[in-house]
Amino acid sequence: MGKRIFSILILTSFLLVSCVDSHRSMKEVVFVMDTIVTLDVRDHANEKLLKKMTDRLMEIDSLMSFSKEESDIYQVNHAKGESVLVDSSTYYVVKKAVEYTQMSGGCFDPSIGRLVALWGIGSDDEHVPSIKEIEEVVETIGLDKISLSEPNSISLMDGTMIDVGAIAKGFAADEMIRIAKEAGVESAIFNLGGNISVLGSKGSDSFRIGIRNPFSESDEYFGIVEVTDTSVVTSGNYERYFIDESGVKYHHILDPFSGYPADNELSGVTVICSSSIKADAFSTALYVMGLEKGLAFIEQMDDMEAIFVTNSRDVYLSTGLQTSFLLCDDSFRIPE
Ligand code: ADP
Ligand code: MG
Repeated sequence: MGKRIFSILILTSFLLVSCVDSHRSMKEVVFVMDTIVTLDVRDHANEKLLKKMTDRLMEIDSLMSFSKEESDIYQVNHAKGESVLVDSSTYYVVKKAVEYTQMSGGCFDPSIGRLVALWGIGSDDEHVPSIKEIEEVVETIGLDKISLSEPNSISLMDGTMIDVGAIAKGFAADEMIRIAKEAGVESAIFNLGGNISVLGSKGSDSFRIGIRNPFSESDEYFGIVEVTDTSVVTSGNYERYFIDESGVKYHHILDPFSGYPADNELSGVTVICSSSIKADAFSTALYVMGLEKGLAFIEQMDDMEAIFVTNSRDVYLSTGLQTSFLLCDDSFRIPE
């Protein structure tokens, strides 16, 4: 065989392999960060890439878990006021959390840790605390109780605890997008327990993301948004809750001011933003703000859109969604 033909053969087989590889899609479902995560990589997928992604999810969980003793967050929360050197990812997440607390006027606040622990919603110890307990713990909440010092040190006022549970999945989703992009992936969809991030588009179409019906026990959706390169995150009162003997429902999104589950007319808020950590923080924050304040707030933000669903099935959209949202369940309505 001539040298030239041989090299052409090698070249064609290389092209074939790389061509097949770049089209290869893979899907993986893992349970991590206390939730079901689906990684759907639609091109340039391989085992190594999927493993890198799942390893990163496990790493984020072990750094940012509230309950695991080896986590950075646990160490900071049990340092009795001392400064703790943390991983740069943990520092980034806490720093972002502080920024979002300022922006949301304290409706989202990571220093809510002791209040979350006191209610224990979703744990074996969920219960309605006494008014006195709530009042005491509300005193431990506030940005003045958190000090950050560059590069990566965090200290808390003794008695305060931080919980990044409301944004860790958003951060993890951003990390999945980063890792995928670095590997040359052009199209992917990641679902971290309802916290959805998409990379690129679905061929020549946008991704169609269903917005979950907050009143349904199963995964039914009442509307669809068409999106590319963004994240869609929902917070609602139906995710984790308990009902006491008198039939009152207590859910896991807490109002840092009252110390009780946010009690307003909303059953769910969805935020759409290219940054998933931001979408995650503001889905929680807007839920606490309530419909009127939340809508006014979101209209002033040019990088975020939102969908609010009330307990009476009214759906309110921020201006930027009027053309990309499709209502597909007629038991809901969009008021004029
Ligand atoms: P999910 O975890 O179900 O996706 P969220 O993103 O809204 O829902 O996060 C809720 C979690 O965030 C709670 O379980 C609690 O750990 C924490 N949290 C509750 N209320 C607040 C709040 N006002 N600010 C910051 N974190 C909160
Ligand atoms: Mg959130």
